[in-house]
Amino acid sequence: MSTAASSSPAAASKAVPAIQVQNLHKSFGSKEVLKGIDFHVDQGEVVCVIGPSGSGKSTLLRCVNRLEEPTSGTILVEGVDITDPETDLDKVRTRIGIVFQQFNLFPHLNVLKNLTLAQRRAKKRGKVEAEEIARTNLAKVGLADRGDSFPAQLSGGQQQRVAIARALSMDPDMMLFDEPTSALDPELVGDVLAVMRKLAEEGMTMMVVTHEIGFAREVGDRVVFMDGGVVVEQGRPSDVLDNPQHPRTREFLSKVL
Ligand code: ADP
Ligand code: MG
Repeated sequence: MSTAASSSPAAASKAVPAIQVQNLHKSFGSKEVLKGIDFHVDQGEVVCVIGPSGSGKSTLLRCVNRLEEPTSGTILVEGVDITDPETDLDKVRTRIGIVFQQFNLFPHLNVLKNLTLAQRRAKKRGKVEAEEIARTNLAKVGLADRGDSFPAQLSGGQQQRVAIARALSMDPDMMLFDEPTSALDPELVGDVLAVMRKLAEEGMTMMVVTHEIGFAREVGDRVVFMDGGVVVEQGRPSDVLDNPQHPRTREFLSKVL
């Protein structure tokens, strides 16, 4: 039955989750690392994934654009099944920006070139357009004046902000972050989190694996706690972080808070 609201194309596309993972299993050899994960991120939602080291957070994130091959289960990105061999994976991947703990900038290219390279190759943008988009995104992360710098001339926090600007320059529909501040000196963490917070406020769809519980509390719409390859508990940040229901969540939080 179609209602007035769901028959409008805008309403229909809004209803499709950005990411929907169903019964995802992933093994490395005989070791099962993801044991039946159900997980979703709605459009415009910020979902923070927390949990102990080795619980499978990175593997889950990497499965979302098939940097890891799922063993079984379904992963839909904006309604498209990315485990279907017929799916054009490159096309889906251009909609997903990813930022890792390590910034992975090209050391021999200046910041501007780091931001224009993929745009020119994958988006077929001309030099002028790519540079304009790059400069807009550098300004957005507070580095408008660093286009000519090389990565080694920047602090870790600045490099990570360049990595974010590079991902944004591809016009992604969603951003995945895998512990983006874990490699940074403590005094540099705040600037990166501030950029991420601004993105969230602008309505970007975000999956953020993080140990920054304060960020998860203040910026997350939902917190997902993983342990041992399963989602143990999820809900509103205030519920999961301040009133965890599961003993494993309580134990984890007692160590990190
Ligand atoms: P987290 O990000 O929560 O720390 P990971 O997803 O990185 O956890 O890892 C979950 C488990 O999977 C760990 O035990 C890790 O050693 C294992 N693992 C991850 N990647 C590989 C791989 N490429 N080969 C073998 N084991 C892996
Ligand atoms: Mg990890």
